[in-house]
Amino acid sequence: MNAVIPDEGLDTEIAARVRRTLFVDTHEHLVEETTRTEWKPGGRIPCDDWSVLFMHYIDSDLQVAGMSPEDRSILSSPDADTRRKWAAIEPWWPMVRNTGYGQAVRLSAEAIYGVRDLNGTTVKLIADRYRATVKPGFYKRLLVTIAGIESCQVNSLERTFMETKLPTLLMQDISLMNLQLPDLWREHAEAADIRVTGLADYHRVVDWWFTTYGPYAVAAKSQIAYSRRLDFADVPPEEAEAPFSRLINGDRLTAADRKTIEDHLFWYGVRKAASMDLPIKLHTGYYAGHNGMPMARVATNPGDVTEILRRAPEARFVLMHIGYPFWDQMVAIAKHWHNAFIDMCWAWIIDPVSSVRFLQSMLVTAPSNKVLTFGGDFIPVEPVVGHAMVARRGIALALTGLVRDGWLSHAQAIELTDPIMRGNAHRLFRLKEKAHTLANPPWLGKD
Ligand SMILES: [Zn+2]
Repeated sequence: MNAVIPDEGLDTEIAARVRRTLFVDTHEHLVEETTRTEWKPGGRIPCDDWSVLFMHYIDSDLQVAGMSPEDRSILSSPDADTRRKWAAIEPWWPMVRNTGYGQAVRLSAEAIYGVRDLNGTTVKLIADRYRATVKPGFYKRLLVTIAGIESCQVNSLERTFMETKLPTLLMQDISLMNLQLPDLWREHAEAADIRVTGLADYHRVVDWWFTTYGPYAVAAKSQIAYSRRLDFADVPPEEAEAPFSRLINGDRLTAADRKTIEDHLFWYGVRKAASMDLPIKLHTGYYAGHNGMPMARVATNPGDVTEILRRAPEARFVLMHIGYPFWDQMVAIAKHWHNAFIDMCWAWIIDPVSSVRFLQSMLVTAPSNKVLTFGGDFIPVEPVVGHAMVARRGIALALTGLVRDGWLSHAQAIELTDPIMRGNAHRLFRLKEKAHTLANPPWLGKD
């Protein structure tokens, strides 16, 4: 593994063990590798140059620091040149370079392109090296060889289930949110080739998606917390039937209709996923982007989640992003509920220092199988490398601190490394079995 982590303050042996242990990366939004190597305008990657490093998530910090909307659009323009793009970033870079997002960018630039300092001169070097990097096979090089990741779990933002060309490297979630959203019923029904005249037909559509893709998915994922509370009432089909009929008739839905349908389909999907032994991943906590997060709603996530956990003891839930900033409540939830697992995906770069404290607290409070420690949460692959480096440093710091303070012995800290970086994910998502199934999925060789 090429990636180094700054090791100030770390126990040498713990740091070495963390460095050579591979991550199971439990959450990404990576586009297919061919989307990058055969790039065309439009889609989730708006341009094909070095500025993809700055597009997700550091662009939010840049704009919160003061970057104008015009400069933000230059940043991702396929036409603007390197000089122009750097001129847009430069005034704000000193203010964001030390945030978790900024650290992920800097560490990625160093590990992938060998460039330590970003400035008007070095950025030209990065631009050249970007071109040399993006070619078939580069996902494996960046993710496995440089970042030390054994497999990723991708929640595609383009499909309800992505028939990936790299099935054992980019394992996929099935989108529970898409199947739950009223507005997407028609496209799901068409894909399943089922005529929908009522709710029972749509249940068959959801069944089709799970039957067709469930065996090849690692989990079911919903990020519906971006648009509502997680207060899903267990609405019986009789109650959801009338609003659902209004939906398929094209009538105007009230907010109450929408909630009824979403609530009903949430539980339908959760039970379906649980019956196939697929864990259910729920976005909780902080919102991506900027100038949009309703903190009062985000604060209801931990409380709403405990109702979900109570109602579905047979299902296993992965609560993502440590519910940031309500991570102390997530520690309490993981300790109390057998069916709650807390995922640190994205958290290391939202708030590196709190993430260290969260992990320390988890390891001496909840059973050690209840935590997953890494998911890059990126659309472009490049910043995953830097994020994995931030996470490795954070894990090593957390373990070093627990040993220094006498909560763990040195041997115990070393022993925890493998389970929290990969073993817990292996067990929870049945990765050995999945890797076997994904070695030869039906969609490969179709075209
Ligand atoms: Zn995500």
